[in-house]
Amino acid sequence: MLRFAPSPTGDMHIGNLRLAILNYLISQQRNESFLVRIEDTDTKRNIEGKDTEIMQILEKFALPHESVFHQSEHLHMHQTLAIKLLEEGKAFVCTCTAEQLTTDRDNAKANKMAYRYSGQCFDVNKEEHANLKESGIPFVIRLKKPTEDIINHDLIKGDIKTAPNEVDSFVILRADGTPTYNFACACDDMLSGVDFIVRGEDHLSNTPKQKHIKTQLGYDAETTYAHLPIILNTDGEKMSKRDAASSVKWMFVEGFVPDAIINYLLLLGNSKAPKEIFTLPEAIEWFNIENISKSAAKFDIDKLRFINRKHLEMMDDKQLSTLFGFADADIGKLAKIYLEEVSTTKELEAKIRPIFSPKDFSGEWGEQMTIMAKIIAEAPMMKEFDEFKSYIMKESGLKGENFFKPLRYLLTGVGNGPELSEVYPLIKSYLLEVAS
Ligand code: GLU
Ligand code: ZN
Repeated sequence: MLRFAPSPTGDMHIGNLRLAILNYLISQQRNESFLVRIEDTDTKRNIEGKDTEIMQILEKFALPHESVFHQSEHLHMHQTLAIKLLEEGKAFVCTCTAEQLTTDRDNAKANKMAYRYSGQCFDVNKEEHANLKESGIPFVIRLKKPTEDIINHDLIKGDIKTAPNEVDSFVILRADGTPTYNFACACDDMLSGVDFIVRGEDHLSNTPKQKHIKTQLGYDAETTYAHLPIILNTDGEKMSKRDAASSVKWMFVEGFVPDAIINYLLLLGNSKAPKEIFTLPEAIEWFNIENISKSAAKFDIDKLRFINRKHLEMMDDKQLSTLFGFADADIGKLAKIYLEEVSTTKELEAKIRPIFSPKDFSGEWGEQMTIMAKIIAEAPMMKEFDEFKSYIMKESGLKGENFFKPLRYLLTGVGNGPELSEVYPLIKSYLLEVAS
């Protein structure tokens, strides 16, 4: 079982989308299910509507999931599992006050040591839990630290050993009864039978904790982890919300299409890909997560543009035309002519819109354009550009620059572009609208 576990706390970042794609892809390779878990336990950070947005994005990228749930729906389960650990003596109740913990942290810092929980409440037993509950004294539940090193054989980062003291006796249930991130995450992965996790390297330090939680809960199935390096912006810094290009929304606004974005994200850090341009179903055949480099990949907009253009070239003509409000293969073909100059659907739109917009008859060539428009309005339908050209030439008496310049303005709205002989056959059914 694989999963995508986004937090609904902001616009989806491309790093997150990359994780969704990879987890989905591996679920297909392993013939396993793919589920979506909205990690909404940190209620202060949730932003309303972001969960729906995430699901809409997954749909746009055609990453179907077997099931979806909000982590908060499992609150009761998380509490039950924490109490179970307490009753088994694997966890303990901690009544250390915030001031005490802060003092301990400050002391550790002053001595240049890593903070560790003092262990003061280690032996508080479960009977006291009942008394505490009654007395109203605030307490948290901590999981006892492991007795042995925890080893993670990470598919990208290699073997990582974590000593018991580094894992420490950490909090699993807060004073308000809510689970901490690590606890909720580990419980849910266990309950759903998630056995393969691809996530960001910012979670590397959480992994030993989550492995320890699952072991203590008696779950002995192995989970394979792959922690992906971050994506850097063009300045070589971590790509953050401040980089416009980091948001999936921005990519759509700029006119990048889902297939190209998937292609680009699967190439990131992957120098061993057998080809440069491919679709997700193709990648499922050969992609190997272990080929992803363990160092950070740099975001390269020019590469993305190149890949986007290739995918637009491969798109079905009629489908391409729908991006500009048509359902006509000829308009898709017309767009493809312009692909020699541009790379995104936004830029294509800027090329195609002037062709179908009202023309300006007040400019330098306005007089000749008026004459031609009148002739076109009364002319029969002509299939070939040569025939059309000769007809207008004869009827108008215009020639040379006096003919070609205004004709180009009349048919395309601009002064230069592809050969009119290429454009004409594709717009001839719209001629009355175009030449007006
Ligand atoms: N909600 C976490 C995040 O967005 C995901 C954690 C995980 O994949 O385990 O970073
Ligand atoms: Zn304590």
